[in-house]
Order: sequence, then structure tokens, then C-alpha cells
Amino acid sequence: DEDTDYIQLIEDARNELINLSSDFMEQLCEQKKQIENLSKLAMTDSLTNLLNFNAFHDCLDKEIQRAQRYKHSLCLIMADIDHFKDINDTHGHLAGDHVIKRVAQFIQDYIRTSDTAARYGGEEFAVILPEISRGDAITVAERLRKEIDAMQIEHESQLIPVSLSFGISFFKPDRPRSKIELIKEADSALYQAKRAGRNICRCYDTD
Ligand code: GH3
Ligand code: MG
Ligand code: MG
Repeated sequence: DEDTDYIQLIEDARNELINLSSDFMEQLCEQKKQIENLSKLAMTDSLTNLLNFNAFHDCLDKEIQRAQRYKHSLCLIMADIDHFKDINDTHGHLAGDHVIKRVAQFIQDYIRTSDTAARYGGEEFAVILPEISRGDAITVAERLRKEIDAMQIEHESQLIPVSLSFGISFFKPDRPRSKIELIKEADSALYQAKRAGRNICRCYDTD
């Protein structure tokens, strides 16, 4: 009769609506996943899987803001592979790529989860160490330098020795620094390390 027709009609419409909204939710979740994957891809250096240059800048901005707000200190390390051109020339460009990958992996495994490692450029890395004293940061950089110096990287049955020079700069609540200043100071310390013979750590001299 007419009444049951209406009831059936409403029931059908309700089911149809449930199906539509669950399809819509599924699509929404899928799109959210795709956006997350894409933004991760945009932040990542494809050779090393470390953060890339742009993501490093974003991260350093955030860490400086955090350090300012909570009156923490912060350390920036810039590290550059020594005589990397010779590694490419002697062992080939693919071996060079392999060395960059292995060094990146070593740095990533070495640091704490609250620290951030990035590929700053070709064979240059940046490490952000939040909430760390000057003394502890120097110890971290020096240990990292020694451990990388002690290893040989194997590539197609060749053993490739590798070392890095390190430049270190600091942000302290009583001596705040902008991002650009921190990078410039770490860079200048790295330049000093290269000039002093390479395979060493140098801190930017403050007052
Ligand atoms: P220094 O000790 O002064 O740092 O000398 P260096 O030879 O390491 O530095 P230089 O800047 O003279 O050369 C760096 C070389 O790194 C030049 C460039 O061709 C090479 N390079 C940059 N990016 C990559 C990369 O992704 N893969 C490989 N295989 N080589 C790269
Ligand atoms: Mg170099
Ligand atoms: Mg370089």
C-alpha cells in the first residue's frame, strides 16, 4: 500500500546517503594521504633522504623561534666532505654519490631524534641541535668527525677513505642570532676548519 511505499522510499534514500558519505570519506582520506606523501617528497633530498635545503631553512626558523620562546640554546653544525672532488675524480661520480649517501646515513643514525640533519648542498650537510650546551655540541661534532674519519666506505670492492670539516655556531638566549647570522657564523667556522687543514671542527668565536 501507499504507506509502506513511502517507508521503503525513505529507507532506500537513507541507505543511498550512507553509501555516498562513506565513499566521500574514503576519497577524503585518500587525498589526505596523497597530500602528506607529496609534502614529504617536497621536503626530502632524494639522494640521501635527509631534509633538503628548503626544509632545512623552515626547520631552522622554527627551532630559533622555539629557542627564543623557551630561552633555550641551539647549535648549528655545517659539515663539508674534504677533497670530495678527488673522490669523484679517483673513484667516479657514482662512487661519489654513494659516499654522500653513506655519510648522510651515518650522521642521521648518529644524532638524537630531536636533532635534525639536512643536505645543505652537494657534499655539505647541516645539523641542528636544539637545547644543547656549547660544550656538549662540540663533543658531538668532534665524535662524529672522528668516527667518520675512522671508517672507509666500500663501493664496488673499493675502500674509500672520507673525512669532513665542521663549522659550529651557537644561539644563546642572552646572545640571540637570526637564522642568517647563525648560518653565516657556522659557514665562517667551516671555512676556518678548511683553512686550518681540514678534518677538524671549528667553532665561531664569540665575545
Ligand atoms: P674541500 O675540501 O675544500 O671541500 O674540497 P672539495 O673538493 O670537497 O670541494 P669542491 O667544492 O672543490 O668540490 C665539490 C665537488 O662535489 C664538486 C661537485 O662536482 C661535486 N658534487 C656536488 N654534488 C654532488 C653529487 O650529488 N654527487 C657527486 N658525485 N658529486 C657531487
Ligand atoms: Mg668539500
Ligand atoms: Mg662543498
